[in-house]
Amino acid sequence: MVAAAVPVVETRERQVWDVLEAVPDPEIPVLSVVDLGIVRYVRWMTDSDGESKLHVGITPTYSGCPATEVIRHSIATALNEEGYAGAMIDEVLSPPWTSDWLTDAGRRKLESFGIAPPQRVVSKPRHLFRAHVVTCPRCGSGATERISEFGSTPCKAHYRCTSCLEPFDYFKCL
Ligand SMILES: [Zn+2]
Repeated sequence: MVAAAVPVVETRERQVWDVLEAVPDPEIPVLSVVDLGIVRYVRWMTDSDGESKLHVGITPTYSGCPATEVIRHSIATALNEEGYAGAMIDEVLSPPWTSDWLTDAGRRKLESFGIAPPQRVVSKPRHLFRAHVVTCPRCGSGATERISEFGSTPCKAHYRCTSCLEPFDYFKCL
């Protein structure tokens, strides 16, 4: 079972999720860390000394992504400012993050920002041998071509739509 779904949460946990929803991704500030799907859980756990502590589990988007440390720091700062000093941020490495974890709200935000969201189908085995189509976020055309492997950040590739001729970034972290 992949623990990707957010379970029914208590009010105090919901409040922490609200704080996290306001923490932007450093590379694509239009997305929050919750939109990215990297927050695995929010829960209070009792430590060995009997003290109940807030734990937030996060999964790095991909190893070597310099944004991970920044994200960790942003989350810690936001929690501190909202009165959750001493919150523990756990790194959850398994299962690894995939762009399928991007929420639907996150996908819509990417599109309205002019970035094509990652195509869901690429991680499904039967699609492995099919070239995946990157859809233009402006006109929705599938007639697009890759201009370069790297866009404004290593997570994005640069594409151009051959229908409306607009260039755009494709979020390719998988
Ligand atoms: Zn287009």
